[in-house]
Formats: sequence, structure tokens, C-alpha cells
Amino acid sequence: MCGIVGAVAQRDVADILVEGLRRLEYRGYDSAGVAIVDQNNHLNRIRRLGKVNILADAVNESGPIGGTGIAHTRWATHGEPSETNAHPHMSGENIVLVHNGIIENHEELREVLQQRNYEFRSETDTEVIAHLVDWELRQSDSLLEAVQKAAKQLTGAYGTVVMDRRDPERLVVARSGSPIVIGLGVGENFLASDQLALLSVTRRFIYLEEGDVAEITRRKVIIKDHRGNIVERTATDSTIEHDAGDKGGYRHFMQKEIFEQPIALRNTLEGRISQERVIVDSIGTGAADILSRVEHVQIIACGTSYNAGMTARYWFESIAKISCDVEIASEFRYRDFVTRPNSLLITLSQSGETADTLAALRLAKEKGYMAAMTICNVAGSSLVRESDLAFMTRAGTEIGVASTKAFTTQLAALLILVTALGKQKKTVNQATESKIVKALHELPTNIENALSFDSKIDELAQEFADKHHALFLGRGEYFPIALEASLKLKEISYIHAEAYAAGELKHGPLALIDADMPVVVIAPANDLLEKLKSNIEEVKARGGLLYVFADKQAGLEATDTMKIIAMPGVSEITAPIYYTVPMQLLSYHAALIKGTDVDQPRNLAKAVTVE
Ligand code: GLU
Repeated sequence: MCGIVGAVAQRDVADILVEGLRRLEYRGYDSAGVAIVDQNNHLNRIRRLGKVNILADAVNESGPIGGTGIAHTRWATHGEPSETNAHPHMSGENIVLVHNGIIENHEELREVLQQRNYEFRSETDTEVIAHLVDWELRQSDSLLEAVQKAAKQLTGAYGTVVMDRRDPERLVVARSGSPIVIGLGVGENFLASDQLALLSVTRRFIYLEEGDVAEITRRKVIIKDHRGNIVERTATDSTIEHDAGDKGGYRHFMQKEIFEQPIALRNTLEGRISQERVIVDSIGTGAADILSRVEHVQIIACGTSYNAGMTARYWFESIAKISCDVEIASEFRYRDFVTRPNSLLITLSQSGETADTLAALRLAKEKGYMAAMTICNVAGSSLVRESDLAFMTRAGTEIGVASTKAFTTQLAALLILVTALGKQKKTVNQATESKIVKALHELPTNIENALSFDSKIDELAQEFADKHHALFLGRGEYFPIALEASLKLKEISYIHAEAYAAGELKHGPLALIDADMPVVVIAPANDLLEKLKSNIEEVKARGGLLYVFADKQAGLEATDTMKIIAMPGVSEITAPIYYTVPMQLLSYHAALIKGTDVDQPRNLAKAVTVE
């Protein structure tokens, strides 16, 4: 789930490996390590708890030489973060490996391997792979064959790279549920869990497919598919810009970040769901135990993160059947609140440094919450360090002040968490779990489809640019999506916008309706659609201008005063994430037309580190 880098070259690879790890730091990790072997079979393994910088210092000091090496940043799932549990792991003096993901049958394998007299030196699930490869190698002609045989015995999600000290010109890699790319160089080859890690050495990549096992030497890459047949996989040139701080052909960072959402979401999901299941352990060490004791959830956040929390509240109660409260951090921290029994505190923050949220977390820890979890985008941030569990969203650097990909990835992370919680509490059965997981698998593609509405929404935005006010309506979990849509429009276009739960219209806001007040309605096809249609009629009858983002199947007809943006249907579960995208595009285009500073709107800052 975290970072893997590997290299087979003639030159010394220590710097390449460490630089690769630095580029993967954004994913979050607790320890890092590297192992390098030279021509004379000397192996140098260096591991450190904490930041890549600490590892880099140790590497500089010891100056390992050698052209073949593997490196890893670990996000502990089995065994506490420590130097002993950090990767690379070894079997005996020869087999060295790094691993991303989880080996679900590690306990059974550990028993079998102990009977074969293997001595375990860490608490990780990973170590079983090392011993298993060592065992199989005794019965095989090559490391490739041994890894193939070992891989067949593993269940779970993994990407693993193996090196043999006695054979220092070769790396063998296996992929199952955790991505691996091979980077092609001239007289040297590389591999990594993410191409970003290798962009300083190559831009040409081969993506391994599920079940692939490959052998990489300086001049050759041999790939075998899950049936064991040698296959050719085409190499492609990376189109990724080198630097996260580069707009990469987009006009604004916000636009780039909106369009990055399919990739960002793929990163969020990676290693957290298998074909049909949510991988509870991927949430972190002890997550399964903590979740099984939860009786109440308290979410604390600010701004966009608060809107994500509000959306998730519907999910916690309807899917996991766990009561959930959501509160703005600045209110919570100064309120004399009552802590519910076995309550899990969840903080949400893009930066992990939001001052009010951090203060709320510190206070809550004193007030007897069962455990504190953060859903956060910045590894090593204060919220991550101070929480019992940290679930990284892995959206990548977000530069635009108005949050976009951080929000949708928070929602995806929350949906995984809700399902994991329901699974532990036995309120989510296997059928529901696989339905949710299926919807999550489809989500990145759904978001790509939503992005294709860009030019249509641009046209629509023209009608907003001269308006001073706008109203957003939704029901159920679309009420917080409407809240987020109105926040986005306010932030970047400076148009005053309000969001209401559509049922509240007649309790006040209906008085505002006239031809100068566009009303945006989010109308997916769900149980509340008929109720929403009545709300639409209420607006129509008062001469309001309506812009309805509706499911194609919603049966709504456009009129002179009502525009319909007909969206293809998606799974009801993930639809709130999907409907967020056209809302982001609407704000973005309205702001463009108004000529505001989209990436740095007036009076606002990215990470709100002050109260
Ligand atoms: N499950 C492994 C461990 O706890 C690997 C974690 C990771 O993906 O970083 O060591």
C-alpha cells in the first residue's frame, strides 16, 4: 500500500532508491528501508523508523555501493511501526524482499514455516513471503520460479519485490492487487509501486497486470502472466508532469485537481478493497479490533471536510447502523460536550494541520473517546501523528485553495471505513459489502464520465456569472453535496450561495425565489426523487430559474425556466461522489467567467493553521 522502488543498474543505485522513496512520501508511511547488493555479493540493509530523510542520512553515512537494490516505505498493518518491522525483510542471509499490502493467510503460513524451522524476526505478515520464497527456491531452478510458486500460496493483496544476495543482477517482482510498474532504462531497469517514483530516471513504463510475475535484469524484462505463460506487455511513455507543483497544461491548479480525481480515487482505493471485499486491516494496525468495539462515531471537521463528514453521517447510520454526529471543530472545541460510550472520534482534514480540528482532537483525547482516527491527505501531519489510526486519502498534493480531489477522496475513504465498520459490527453482510465494493471499483470511471460534461457545464456557467446569489438544493446525502457545491461557488466566484435540504424550502428560503436567483438542484434517481420533484414545482410556481442535475432516468422534462443536465446513472451508493464533479465544474467555470483568482481566492488560505 505504501511505496516500493527497485533498481538493477551498473551504477550505484542508493540515491535513485532514496529519491524514489521521497517521491512516494505523499502516500503516508511510518518507516523506510533500503537493501543494496554489489557484484561481490555484499548486502547492505538499512532501515529506520520515521521519515525518509532519516533513512537518507543513514544511507549517506554508510554509503552502500552496489547496482541492485530495493527500497520501501512502510505503512504498518501487521506489527507496530519499528525498525525491526520495517522492510526490507530477509529469510536467512540471502533472500531480501519488500512488500506492499496484506497477506491474509499469514498466520497459517507462519505455522507451516515455523515447522520447517524458519525463525521469524518481525511481527509482519510480510516475513512469511521471504521464508516461503527461500523454501521454494530450494526446490526450484530460478528465483522467478520460486516466487511464482510462493505467490500461488498467498492470499490477500500484494506487490512484492525479491532479491537474492547470491545472484546480485536480478530482481523478481509479483503483483496481485497492488500496482507495480517497470521502468525501462538503457542498460538498466527499474521498478516501483508508482511511476512517480521513477520519473527522474525514466519515462518509459510497462504496467504489470494482476497475477503477473516478472524477472528484471539490466538488459531484460521477462514477464509471466497468472497462468505462467511468458507474455509481452507494451511499454508506454509517461505523460505525467515531473512536478506536483506544475499545472501540466491546465489553466489552474484547481482545474488540474478536478481532472485528477479519477487517478486520485484509484490511489485511495488501492490495497483497501479486493475484488469483492473491503480489506479491514488496510485501515491500520489494530483497526479491526477498534472498529469492532465502536458504538458511536463523532466526526469533527471544518469547511469542505465538514461537508464530507455530513455526507458520511448518512452512510454510517444507513449502512453500518452506527449512530454518528458531525460537528464543526471550532464549535465542538469550545462546547461543554458529553462523550458517548465507545465513541470513535474521526477528524477530517486535507492538510492534517487545521488548527481548530487539531485542538478538538487534543481536547477529545482528554475527554475519554475510545480512539481517535483521522482521514487526512498529508502524511506526517499533526493529525496523523496524534491519532490512533490514520487513514490516508492519497489524493496527491492539492494546491488550489478550494478543495476538490481532497473532498472526493475523503468520501471514498469514508465509504470504505463505513463498510469496514459494518463488517466488524456484523451490520453489513457479504452481499452489501460486495455491492459497495463493486460501486467503488466503478467510481473512477464514473468520475471520468462526469468530467466529460465539462463543456456543457461551461455553457451553463455563463448564466451564473452575472448573478449575485444562488441556491443549491438536495435531499438525503445530497444535502451535504449541495452544501459543498455552494461553498465552492462562494469561495472562488464570490457569488453568494446557500444550500438547503430541499424539504426546508417552504420554511423560509422560498421567499427569496425570483428570476435573479438561480436554483441548482441535485436530482439522482433514488427514493427521495418524488419528494424532490415537488420541491422543484414549488420553485417553478414562484418564477424561479432551475438548473437540475438529474439522472437520465429521473423523468424530468426541460422547460423555459428549467434546464436539465441529464447524467448517466451510476450506483446509488457512490452517486454523491459522482454528482460532486459537475458542481465543482460549475463553480470553476463561473469563476473563470468572473475573472477571479481561482487558485488563491481573496481572503482565504490553503491550510488553516490558525484559529
Ligand atoms: N503488511 C505489511 C506490513 O505491515 C506491508 C505494509 C505496507 O503496505 O506498507 O509490514
